[in-house]
Amino acid sequence: MPQFSLEQVRSIMDQTEKIRSLSIIAHVDHGKTTLADSLVSRAGIISTKAAGDTKFTHGRKDEQERGVTIKSTGVTLCLEHDQGDGHGQQPYLVNLIDSPGHVDFSSEVTAALRITDGAIVVVDCIEGCAVQTETVLRQALQERVKPCLFVNKVDRCILEMQMEAEDMYLRFRNAIENVNVIIATYNDSSMGDLQVRPELGNVAFGSGLHGWGFSIETFAKILSAKSGMEKSKMMEKLWGDWFYNPKKKVWTNVQQPEDCEEPLQRGFCQYVMNPINQLIRAIMDKDSEKYEKMMARVGIVLKGEDKNLTGKALMKHVMQNWINAGESLVAMVVMKLPPPKLAQRYRVENLYDGPMDDEAAMGIRNCDPSGPLMMYVSKMVPAADKSRFYAFGRVFSGTVATGQKVRIQGPHYRPGSRDDLHVRAIQRTVLMMGRGTELIQEVWDHHHFGRCPQLH
Ligand code: GDP
Repeated sequence: MPQFSLEQVRSIMDQTEKIRSLSIIAHVDHGKTTLADSLVSRAGIISTKAAGDTKFTHGRKDEQERGVTIKSTGVTLCLEHDQGDGHGQQPYLVNLIDSPGHVDFSSEVTAALRITDGAIVVVDCIEGCAVQTETVLRQALQERVKPCLFVNKVDRCILEMQMEAEDMYLRFRNAIENVNVIIATYNDSSMGDLQVRPELGNVAFGSGLHGWGFSIETFAKILSAKSGMEKSKMMEKLWGDWFYNPKKKVWTNVQQPEDCEEPLQRGFCQYVMNPINQLIRAIMDKDSEKYEKMMARVGIVLKGEDKNLTGKALMKHVMQNWINAGESLVAMVVMKLPPPKLAQRYRVENLYDGPMDDEAAMGIRNCDPSGPLMMYVSKMVPAADKSRFYAFGRVFSGTVATGQKVRIQGPHYRPGSRDDLHVRAIQRTVLMMGRGTELIQEVWDHHHFGRCPQLH
């Protein structure tokens, strides 16, 4: 796991194209917290084995006692991703907000969404789209937050329901279609086409609980290297009505061509779901001959103590090594969700009430560190001694630094009101990194806790 120093983190903050701010949204119990663990574990904060077992973003007890952990916890993660552009692994800063799933916290969901530019929508593939999936996705779209989708709990289709690949395909397709109906209903088209489609790479599937997941791109990469077909073309073949005819060595959209005795398998089933299904079942059936062969084919070698693993522990280990959920999530987030500079161009109208040609609006639109300071505070948290507050939020324009004088405009602020007269100095500026806070001199384009005098 890569380890980053605070200086490195600070330097990534200066390259805003390397920043992504997102929340994970879902109907309650669809697995958003568990999935957040997969991302956190990729950042090297908790080990991969602990993913799914540790509810990291729900906060540890000692953090709750310090008063810093809140219902909508924000955490900044340092993650590496190789875009395949020849630059190798590059560091990214991912600000992750775990918004509350319960409808009672609706205003907190909105506050969490306002400081993000993207959202991973988690849908339990057994239950499909549910009431709160629609509620939170609608809120996200109203905030001009771009969605991508994670179809979760696929392990249950395989292990509990013993489903075949085609049945899983139909179930996934149904969930995706329902999400797209919601998107079509609430998209105000300021962000262009927002439909989620596996062939575009903005849909991932997997098991947050077992720490594995993939997008079509994961498999298209491997297959295109073997077949010589372009990756984007291969992605199209791995979703929808595309079938590979091995006799003629061609892709067709006819499931049973005249020259075939048996119906052909859908690309998604043949090249994606069947290998996953078969590997998991072979491990759980303790068919070592079969799973060892399959593992060798996908390049997984057990070393040291891992050789003693059996059953579920072996299955989780193998799957996490083969198609890691955190890795697939990082790839999807980096490639499909916008960096702040891009997002603020179309979000400015939603974020700011004043004239669109004034200094503040320009600062937000251009994500300008030397513009006037415009920070949205999504949460005020009392510090341990209760005499101070941490203001958690995002800087959309300007730069916030320790000692700087700021004005706080409350939710009922009107120009010329009393709030205009209260100027307060920021006493500390900190970053929420992993398990704790880090003192930092100045912050921009970022989520942070600024420590301010108590509000009257
Ligand atoms: P949240 O309410 O959306 O944050 O959901 P949680 O992450 O707390 O998960 C709700 C329940 O679903 C817990 O019992 C999890 O263990 C379980 N769960 C989450 N992800 C998966 C998954 O991928 N597979 C299975 N089988 N269970 C899961």
